[in-house]
Amino acid sequence: MSRGAYVGLLSLVIALALVYYLAKDQATTVGRRGAEAPVGVASAAKCIANQRTLESVIAMYRMTHDGENPTTLSDLVPRNLPLIPECPEGGAYLYDRNAGTVSCPNGHRDER
Ligand SMILES: [Zn+2]
Repeated sequence: MSRGAYVGLLSLVIALALVYYLAKDQATTVGRRGAEAPVGVASAAKCIANQRTLESVIAMYRMTHDGENPTTLSDLVPRNLPLIPECPEGGAYLYDRNAGTVSCPNGHRDER
């Protein structure tokens, strides 16, 4: 890929991640009341979405830093993310620097 295409793709991915992130927050604020899913299920889904967002942002970071993962999640702010999401049930995500993955302090897990 040419450098221009690479930068363009990267900006697009970042923009999508941001839009997704913002839309997601709004959706939980506006809707959900009267939804059939119990609160625990909704927050687990949001938590897993947060983890996916973080891990894709970490992957983007890696692409621009010679394959190195960020030292801490704070390294992603503000260049890659406006702020670090937390579990809807409270608590900062646990970050595994070697793997470039995050996990929920409340045990929400994506069954991939
Ligand atoms: Zn969680």
